[in-house]
Amino acid sequence: MKYVYSFGAGKAEGDGAMKDVLGGKGAGLAEMTRIGLPVPAGFTISAQCCDYYLKHGRTYPKELRGEVAASLARLEKITGKKLGDSRDPLLVSVRSGSARSMPGMMETILNLGLNDRSVEGLAERTGNARFAWDAYRRFVQMYSTVVIGLPKEDLEEKLGNLKKKARIADDTQVTAEHWQELVAMYKSYFSEKTGRDFPAHPSEQLWDAIGAVFESWMAEKAVTYRRVENITGLLGTAVNVVQMVFGNTGSDSGTGVCFTRDPSTGEKIFYGDFLLNAQGEDVVAGIRTPMHLGELARSMPKVYAQLEKARQLLESHYRDMQDMEFTVEEGKLYMLQTRAGKRTPAATFRIAVDMVKEGLISREEALGRITPGDIQRLFYPVMAPKVSVEQLAQRKVCVGINAVPGAAVGKVVFSARDAEEWAKNGEKVILVRRETSPEDVGGMAVAQGVLTATGGKTSHAAVVARGWAKCCIVGCETLNIDYAAKQMSSDGHVVHQGEWITLDGTEGAVYEGQVPLVTPEMPEHYHTILKWADEVRRMDVRANADTAQDARKARTMGAQGIGLCRTEHMFFKDFEQPERSSERQLAIQEMILADSENDRRRALDKLRPFQRRDFAGIFHAMDGFPVTIRLLDPPLHEFVPHDLENQRELARKIGVTPEVVARRVEKLSESNPMLGHRGCRLSITYPEILEMQVGAIIEAAIECVKAGCKVIPEIMHPLTLDRKELKILVDATHRVADEILRAAGMKIDYLVGTMIELPRAALLADQLAEQAEFFSFGTNDLTQTVMGLSRDDAGRFLPEYLDETKAAIFTTDPFQTLDRAGVGLLIGWAITRGRATRPNLKVGICGEHGGDAESVKFCHQLGMNYVSASPYRVPIARLAAAQAVIEQAASQKGNGRVPKGKPIRKGAAKNLADMPQRAKNAKKPEVIAVRGK
Ligand code: PEP
Ligand code: MG
Repeated sequence: MKYVYSFGAGKAEGDGAMKDVLGGKGAGLAEMTRIGLPVPAGFTISAQCCDYYLKHGRTYPKELRGEVAASLARLEKITGKKLGDSRDPLLVSVRSGSARSMPGMMETILNLGLNDRSVEGLAERTGNARFAWDAYRRFVQMYSTVVIGLPKEDLEEKLGNLKKKARIADDTQVTAEHWQELVAMYKSYFSEKTGRDFPAHPSEQLWDAIGAVFESWMAEKAVTYRRVENITGLLGTAVNVVQMVFGNTGSDSGTGVCFTRDPSTGEKIFYGDFLLNAQGEDVVAGIRTPMHLGELARSMPKVYAQLEKARQLLESHYRDMQDMEFTVEEGKLYMLQTRAGKRTPAATFRIAVDMVKEGLISREEALGRITPGDIQRLFYPVMAPKVSVEQLAQRKVCVGINAVPGAAVGKVVFSARDAEEWAKNGEKVILVRRETSPEDVGGMAVAQGVLTATGGKTSHAAVVARGWAKCCIVGCETLNIDYAAKQMSSDGHVVHQGEWITLDGTEGAVYEGQVPLVTPEMPEHYHTILKWADEVRRMDVRANADTAQDARKARTMGAQGIGLCRTEHMFFKDFEQPERSSERQLAIQEMILADSENDRRRALDKLRPFQRRDFAGIFHAMDGFPVTIRLLDPPLHEFVPHDLENQRELARKIGVTPEVVARRVEKLSESNPMLGHRGCRLSITYPEILEMQVGAIIEAAIECVKAGCKVIPEIMHPLTLDRKELKILVDATHRVADEILRAAGMKIDYLVGTMIELPRAALLADQLAEQAEFFSFGTNDLTQTVMGLSRDDAGRFLPEYLDETKAAIFTTDPFQTLDRAGVGLLIGWAITRGRATRPNLKVGICGEHGGDAESVKFCHQLGMNYVSASPYRVPIARLAAAQAVIEQAASQKGNGRVPKGKPIRKGAAKNLADMPQRAKNAKKPEVIAVRGK
């Protein structure tokens, strides 16, 4: 395997497409060299070498030394200088650079090659001793801190003392002698701390620096950055060894950073800063005020013209906005780096649309460049960046799982009831619970954000909060909640009820006090991009919505129907007439406490009008789009109070003794409620629940049709596992629905289907499809049951499974991104088998994965008809569904690009690996092999 790639003098062994090998920086240097831009010569050691180094006890592959020596010899030939030469030394920078940009997270060492002899040579050649000794002290400083890990502050203190002694305020006034003195101080400090002399030999310096850059890949800040940014699957960092060019040799030199367009607005203007007589780190450090590019045009017109040329060349070459670093050494321009520039969400959308209009990229490419994060950032408030990292660190109470992004500020309350009461009085609250259940939805609805001590990304709190785009952190394992004392504590921080906290749902962190938030604005180009996505995608995108309000919101987000209406929350809160919430609560509790079928029916009769109104509201909001309504799913104990006080109150309302309530609650308790008396098992044992719900759905449909609204009801049975079971449910559904329709003299088409949430259901999908007109994959439960991981408790150990410094068993959380290898295999199987029985079987997904871009793409590959996501993730799913089509077309074409203006080729059908033949007439032909992770 080749590990080292040279570039220089117009030739490069690598190129811009080799980011995985050379890293972004290395690939950019190689490509810029190839297209004729002035780039200093050098070589790149590959990310594969970093991988080897980390996996082989910090050793290098045996061929590396030879390859580095050969590349160094080439570099010396191109530059006409030698590393460590005492007359005219070659100096190099040693920089990190991985395939994904990780700004500031890894290490760099500049001016390598200097020692007590070569510094004199440099001073003599440049005629500038001050510059030479400044370069040397910078090198000693970087080597000591980066390679050895000596504290930066100690070295800075020495510089500070020296300036104080010499009565100097500014670095520019430090003389050559001062720098020389500082180098001596640094070196003796180095010896004192390490017990050896500062390395003078350039080859020792070089190998140490290479190792330090590789090490920085696993530095805590780099690992954290990758986790937060979801950067996975990379081998490591590459190392770029590049000839030093100096921007600090006088007034005809300098260094700068520029963008080919404005990174905040996306406007097509040349944007950037230049610092005269300075080195790169001076720009980053922000010590001196740089000049704008306009001033550079006036003071160095020739350099500016070259730079403008580079801007045009790079943007048309890469066909994306570039962020470039450059240095001017004695009037000569050098390009040091180019990469796709980071930009605000507004700029992201504007640049993508503008570039299509300019003919630079195709619509498909524009769509491919928008990430889920770009969309996400448009909808959620975030913490204002002006709060310093140090301040935040001091105020951090605890860290949990980042279930719903954004940020929220409010006063802590520990019960849903308090949340509702406080909110009624105009207070902003954060609801803090050990976990939530349906009875908490009222409090959750009014809270700014939700924090729970347990649970994972598909726990009740996460799922419900996501539906409302409400900031939510779950699984905060260190959080101790004392409901009685009304306080919570973690890591020595104690927060009492009524005190302010701030949640950062993007990072999963909880802070004391009020951190100011900023609310994003919707850029106009967002709508253009999503319209393009809609034109490309083949899957429909629906929303998970339980109320008319949510359904209306979902429509504004572009949902084409409801893929999952969970009916359980309706029993706790009347979202249209909140003052009537207690009536419904009481009715369902009466139903649960009833001793006979008759009593149960009486209670259900009370619920029926509420349900009818809920469904009618949803049908109206979805006017003409399908609405999948799932019959009752959670175990019944979730609807009755577990604490004594509330049990007493319920007993009083119903007119029984508190013991009766307590006994029933005890009877309902299950040691494993997730696998207990829930889902369609409720309708099998209490058919009257099914009758009430189906009745309410069909009556609501009739009412809406009479009011001139089009309805497409889809009645869905949760958690089925058997053909006979489903037949009982489907027959009962038809019996109830058809009787009501007959009596009303109406004909309304409706579908009856099932969720696939259990392995047995998936395995026997051909049998279930005899009964079901549609399948909706409930991948929250399916992931739980296939993997044998509790969706509520997995948060305790999943972080370790995901942590690349620990077990690193999964690359992504399977409750967030579908486990293609296992759960995905079973879904593929079920679709194939289901459609073998019923070729026009409608198939969708309604677990949380329906709003996860990677999972959506997989659903497309599996030939699903639709995905269903919480309303605020509908745009992400719309985009991902379009990207899936584009990526599939590109991979079938084999070149990774979709030709501009050409229609996207329909995918040729391939069979699922090792699976039975697909049905001949299956509706969606683009099923391809199920791939492992
Ligand atoms: C599922 O299990 O994926 C699902 C959508 O149902 P719930 O999350 O309500 O269990
Ligand atoms: Mg489920």
